[in-house]
Amino acid sequence: MQRFLDIQAHYREAGLDTREVKHAQVVQRIANLPPMFTVSPVGESVEGRTIYGIRAGTGATRVLLWSQMHGDESTATRTLFDVFNFLAASDRHNRWREKTMSQLSLCFIPMLNPDGAECNRRENACGIDINRDARRCTTPEGRILHNLTGTFAPHFSFNLHDQESYYSAGASPVPATIAFLAPPADIQESIPDNRRRAMQLIVWLNRKLQAIIPHGVAKWSDAYEPRAFGEWSQAQHSATILVESGGYYNDPQREFVRKIHFGILLEALSAIASFDYAGEPLSPYFAIPQNRENGMFDSLQRQQTLTIHGTTYITDIGFRKGEQFAGDFESFGSLEADERMKADESG
Ligand SMILES: [Zn+2]
Repeated sequence: MQRFLDIQAHYREAGLDTREVKHAQVVQRIANLPPMFTVSPVGESVEGRTIYGIRAGTGATRVLLWSQMHGDESTATRTLFDVFNFLAASDRHNRWREKTMSQLSLCFIPMLNPDGAECNRRENACGIDINRDARRCTTPEGRILHNLTGTFAPHFSFNLHDQESYYSAGASPVPATIAFLAPPADIQESIPDNRRRAMQLIVWLNRKLQAIIPHGVAKWSDAYEPRAFGEWSQAQHSATILVESGGYYNDPQREFVRKIHFGILLEALSAIASFDYAGEPLSPYFAIPQNRENGMFDSLQRQQTLTIHGTTYITDIGFRKGEQFAGDFESFGSLEADERMKADESG
């Protein structure tokens, strides 16, 4: 994976520097994509913003990737434009391109929820979480994903999100910089062939990531959520992988995680094209630590003494700056003490 991380800066799309990415930025860049990409509108959002599908490759294995289904989760959108720059270039990586792109047919949706992105919120313009609309499909954005899954019939699907920065990877004091999941296709959490392939690919990627971010990979909760698109897509027999970009030290705009994500996507495409993942056992998948909520703080003050109404309490106090989206530091939330960290009352 390091080979891709080392070159990401060369292909990094300029102008997508913060965690706020709007529809206009995406549209302008899609209009300038070179002819190797086939661009077509795949539908419109509630407020009438055009959503695009971008295709590349001539191979028999179909891979669908969508980002920013949640409007305030833009890291993967930024990465996809870095990936487009890499795929379109002509340089010493041409052999990789020829091999991979002759095996794969790719379909990207770089911003599924442009209305949410416009006001930097999770839901679409109706206030509906598109990722809870996989069954009813009442949202136009959800229908796009439904229709594309039907017509494109992807062998692999990548559901690309951001998670909050304060998850740790299990009980370790390390941020969950990346979280994966091969969502269950049914409530029995059975492992049909497509889910097995998703798990194997995660095992393969996790092993490579451990060299870059030791202990920094977690697993998203695998509780069955039938309304979510990951579960639904897995039930459609597409090997579906959830990738969550998370927090990292001194990375408020997620530029480091964007780079990691670049490595993940290109390594994943390599592995799918070459079947490199296919021999992986499943047990390492189950050994990936769970995301742990409230695992991280910007500052944690241990053994602080508080005196209230004449009584002394010993407490640990965690501080968080909150998520930072634009370049403006004033967008930081106020410092909050986490009540759950209080412990060891005495006196
Ligand atoms: Zn999300």
